[in-house]
Amino acid sequence: MDQLSDRPEPLDLLSLSLEELRAYLVGLGQPSYRADQLYGWMYKGRAFDEMTNLPAPLIALLKEKALCTLPAVTKKLVSQIDGTVKFLFTLYDGQPIESVVMFYEHGISICISTQAGCRMGCKFCASTLNGKDRDLLPSEMLGQIIVAQREIGQRISNVVLMGIGEPLDNYDNVLKFLHLLGDEKGLCIGQRHVSLSTCGLADRIRQLSKEKLQITLSISLHAYSDEKRSELMPVNRKWNLNELLGACAEYFAATGRRISFEYTLIEGVNDQPDGAKRLALLLKRYMGDMPVHVNLIPVNPVKERGFVKSGVNAVEAFRKVLSDHGINATVRRKLGSDINASCGQLRHESKNC
Ligand code: SAH
Repeated sequence: MDQLSDRPEPLDLLSLSLEELRAYLVGLGQPSYRADQLYGWMYKGRAFDEMTNLPAPLIALLKEKALCTLPAVTKKLVSQIDGTVKFLFTLYDGQPIESVVMFYEHGISICISTQAGCRMGCKFCASTLNGKDRDLLPSEMLGQIIVAQREIGQRISNVVLMGIGEPLDNYDNVLKFLHLLGDEKGLCIGQRHVSLSTCGLADRIRQLSKEKLQITLSISLHAYSDEKRSELMPVNRKWNLNELLGACAEYFAATGRRISFEYTLIEGVNDQPDGAKRLALLLKRYMGDMPVHVNLIPVNPVKERGFVKSGVNAVEAFRKVLSDHGINATVRRKLGSDINASCGQLRHESKNC
């Protein structure tokens, strides 16, 4: 391990593993059990002044040398229909980000942001309207979960990396976050309870397959041909369907984990039955008999974009064609429809008002 006490200050304490925190405190001349106490408080969402069993001189030293800040709740919208909670958080430097908490029979899920903004430029997405400001630190991804748990007073059991940002464009911080997330003395959320969604950075997917993680990989596909996909998602001009689906097959071969494909249905753009047939053939060609799942999502209108969501009949017809071709597909259940600002819209508004 490198010398943590030699790193530039202030040190971001919540981005450290317990082992790294112990090494840091020992380096400051403290007994290592102080790290366990500090770690426990941080994961409860407590500030330095609330850490009552730590000696005052240590708190003073930590305040001087280290950072332990959590996202502040700027806005909290609660659905009257199903209890879904949408948070607009502000980070220590004023950056706004969003997280959404959803209540399911099998547990409570949170959708978190991985970057402040996004530079991928997908045409239907509100998160990318102003580009990317910066990457989030592991502590800022954990912080969204810690504060949301404190706010709802219940334990969160599932995490999806599907909020603002492209997780694989912030690879090292996301990987560290995934490892910290599973720690039983921390949030104790195992990799099988985590989904990571990507717009398709094929080189990073290949890299990820070597990490041998047990997370679910979710691919934002949204089109059945390179021509259509490049129109909607500029990333396809760098990593086309051949590269992307080749990397997906490699990911499955390395991890044995079923891949999920997201397909946003936009009226008149990508929702024709012939498109569904082409999508089914494409997935068969690359994924063969590997298990895949397609999530169909009627597009959430973003006023700057002008796309219209496909009607119920078109969605069902699309699903049926996929299923007739042996592709397992479901239409995503919509939660929080009364607070259903598209992901990224709250950040966009808060930056532009
Ligand atoms: N950058 C990652 C994760 C964030 S986006 C990715 O691209 O996967 C999370 C999901 O929401 C993606 O599948 C994305 O394509 C989808 N999405 C973005 N804008 C949307 C909109 N207006 N309506 C429906 N889904 C949208």
